[in-house]
Parts: sequence; structure tokens; C-alpha cells
Amino acid sequence: MEILELSILRHATLREALAQLDRTAQGVILLNDESGRFERTITDGDLRRMMLQGASLDDQLAELAHAESVTLAPGFTRRQALEKMQKHGINQVPVVDASGRAVDLVLRAEIDEQILLSTPHMGSAELDFVGEAFRTNWIAPLGPNVDAFEGEMADAVGASHAVALSSGTAAIHIALILLGVGHGDAVFCSSLTFAASVNPIVYQGAEPVLIDSEPDSWNMSPVALERALAAATRANRLPKAVIIVSLYGQSADMDPLLELCDHYGVPVIEDAAESLGATYKGKSSGTFGKLGIYSFNGNKIITTSGGGLLVTEDKALADRARFLATQARDPAPHYEHTVIGYNYRMSNILAGVGRGQLRVLGERVAARRAVFDLYKSELSDLGWLEWMPEPEWSVSTHWLSVCTIAKDCARISNSDVIAALAADLIEARPVWKPMHMQPVFSACDYYEHGNASVSDDLFARGICLPSGSNMTEGQVLRVIERLRAYSRLC
Ligand SMILES: *Cc1c(COP(=O)(O)O)cnc(C)c1O
Repeated sequence: MEILELSILRHATLREALAQLDRTAQGVILLNDESGRFERTITDGDLRRMMLQGASLDDQLAELAHAESVTLAPGFTRRQALEKMQKHGINQVPVVDASGRAVDLVLRAEIDEQILLSTPHMGSAELDFVGEAFRTNWIAPLGPNVDAFEGEMADAVGASHAVALSSGTAAIHIALILLGVGHGDAVFCSSLTFAASVNPIVYQGAEPVLIDSEPDSWNMSPVALERALAAATRANRLPKAVIIVSLYGQSADMDPLLELCDHYGVPVIEDAAESLGATYKGKSSGTFGKLGIYSFNGNKIITTSGGGLLVTEDKALADRARFLATQARDPAPHYEHTVIGYNYRMSNILAGVGRGQLRVLGERVAARRAVFDLYKSELSDLGWLEWMPEPEWSVSTHWLSVCTIAKDCARISNSDVIAALAADLIEARPVWKPMHMQPVFSACDYYEHGNASVSDDLFARGICLPSGSNMTEGQVLRVIERLRAYSRLC
């Protein structure tokens, strides 16, 4: 709507004002003085009150009192505009420039859209599987959807056995128990990760030893792992397991990591919570270690609202995992227990959601990759932005589109960019804060990639951008436009 079409002068009649409100249908028109400067907004209510006080349709707006209207200055942020609208209970605000002229009318519906980091994206089959569970009354932590989901997931990633669990965290916990991790043991884990990778080590009374990332994949550094294993050998305290995390949809460089772990005889747990659908040299991320885990939390590439999965080639381990995750009930007519168990199984309802989601995994991967490609191609001229690398052995899902501020760019910080996006209702986040920097793990040993910590540097410069597979192209372009506008300001 042209701003001129909304403008009206004091000598206009109430009838003209009502007709203009009706024609323009924005709920408000703008009263200007003779020189075109904005005076106040006029609504239906203002005219109604004039008539109740005795004005007729042929009277002029000249009778209208002067009033302070809510306005915005050019360059306002979406958040400022929304806060004003909320505070005053209105749905439109004129933008008035420095010379006092109204240059735009901002409508709530045009600016209140939030763009979130990563939101659930349901397909078309989930409700059918859930409905089937209701019809057959399989409302339990076991049932046909659980069995089918395990089989379908195992096929999808090329694993021999899969165990559906209540969360990715539960899957890591069970994996550690299966490998015999207990009190006082050491377990190595990537430092650049979410706390859920490390917490289960502590559940078992064991001690995390944190390993830096390498710059090519951002995942565990073979150089740092080798140092840590050599130091552990000297101290006669080899770890009971190494948890290798694959971040943001990209596999770690598995060959050199596995070679080292083999050499020292230490089993590997792959935390592929963020990398379902990714491959390393053509093989599914999550299927390289003795045990691998996936997560179906609400923000992951496919979701069951909450859930996890353990995969392995070893049938005995899979059977043991199911046993431990269903309260460790020994075979007996009564309840008989010889070890401590857990209530960690996935429900038959949620496994139905998972079966539906698995059918669209390929589409979700393609959509997330397309989001990343659009950011990268549209912003290729911004010298201060760099993108998470994708080594030639990796096919990343780009679960999250992650960039860093270039090292030589001192004038821009990741927190400034994140704040600028937040002011425009766009959710962005820093890269994971490494576990060795977390107060709760500050006493843990940490091994760096080189002479400086790579993960500290990625945390200092990294930004995760909105990456959902359900983002429209218009939404991605809105983020791109904001980053460009921000770039012009610096
Ligand atoms: C999400 C996540 C987990 C935990 O999975 P939940 O299903 O939320 O328990 C573990 N590790 C990493 C790297 C994750 O991103």
C-alpha cells in the first residue's frame, strides 16, 4: 500500500475519512499537516467518538484533537516494532522519518514471523502409524512399531542390529554400561559437543578426558587423540571407551581415529546424534564404532519428539541393551533381578512417529543441504563469513548451517551477529561451548589439536544459522538479507 493512499488532511470530512479507512482497509489512516508532516493516526474509533460528541459526517477533521501517536523511526528492528505494538495493543505503526514525514506503515502480520534454528518437520505417514498403535491398543514401551522401527533404521544405516530407546543420552549411557565402564574408569570424548555426550560418563562414576577438534571436519582430532592415548599408556590408564562425536551433520574423520583406537585396543562409541543421514567414504555415520547412537530429539534431522537408537554389529550387545533398557528383568515367572536396570525403551507410539519420519529422511537431508547451499552461494561475497568445511570424504547433512567470522576480521563478533539476527526475530546460536570450558567439566584433562585449541577458536567465532528442512526459500532469503544489511553497517 502506497503511504500516500493512507494520508489525509484536516480539511477532509468525516465521511471522506470513513470512506478512506474503508477503501484502504489497514485499520488506520494518517493525518498530515499542509506541508506533509505526520500529525497523528486516525482509526474508526476516533471517528466514532467524534460523532458521539455531536459531529456530523459533513464536519471536518479539523475538530480532531492533537494526539501523540505511537511511531517508529526508520531502521527499526522487528523486535522494537513488535514490542511497541504489544505495549500499546495495536497492530500497525507508522514509520516517521527525521523530517517528520510518514514513510511507511508497519503491520504486525508482516513482521511478527519468527525464524527458528531447527524445528520438527512431520511427513505424511506418522499419524497412520500412531493411529494403528491406538487402534490395536499398543500403547506401551514395546510393540510392532518399535520392532519395525528398529528393523527399518538398521536397514537405513546399514547396521545389523538397532535398539530403540527413550533418548540419545540413554543410548550413550547404555553403550557405556555395555562396554563395562564403571567407577574410576577413564572415557575419552570429543570436547566440542553437547553435554549429553559426556554426562553419561559421569553417571557411571567414570572420568571424562576431553579431546580437541581438528579444523577440517570440526570433529575429533586424530593428533589430539594420539597424544591422549600415549599419555594414558604412560600413566597405565587407557580409557575404557572413546566417544567420537559427529557434529552438525558431518562425520568425524573415522579412519585415522579408528586406527588409533584399534592400535590401543580401545572400543569406540560413535555419537551420531547430529549426523543421521550423513556418510563417511560412502558408509553411514554412526556405523563405524563398536556401538553407535542416534537421537530423535525435537531439533534433530528427524524426530520422535524424544527418542534415541543404539546400533551395533554385535547381536549379544543388542540383546543385552534391550534387557538393560527394560528394567533388567531376568527370565522368571515372577520379577527377578540380578543387575541394575533402566527404563529406557522407546514407546510404541513414538516409534510410529519415527517410522513415518524415516520415510522422509532423504528429503530432509536434501532440504537441509539446500538451505546451506543457498546461504553459501548468496553470501559468497561477504569476506568476513566462512562456512563449515566439508572434506572430500564427507557427505554432510548440514543438520545445522554453521559459519564462522573470519579470523582476520576484528570488527565483527559472532555475538554481535547473533544479537542483530535476534532483533529481527531470527534465532541463531553460537557453536557448542566446548566441554573443557564448562564449569562442570573444568577439572577434566583436555588434549589440544596443536599448540592452540581448535574448539575454543570455533566457539569464539562460530554461528549456527536457522537450518530447518521446513524453512521456505523466502525465510532463508530473509536471514541472508539481514546478514547483508548487518554487513553494510560494519
Ligand atoms: C542431541 C544430542 C545428544 C542427546 O540426544 P537426546 O536424544 O537429546 O538425549 C547427544 N549428543 C549430541 C551431539 C547431540 O546433539
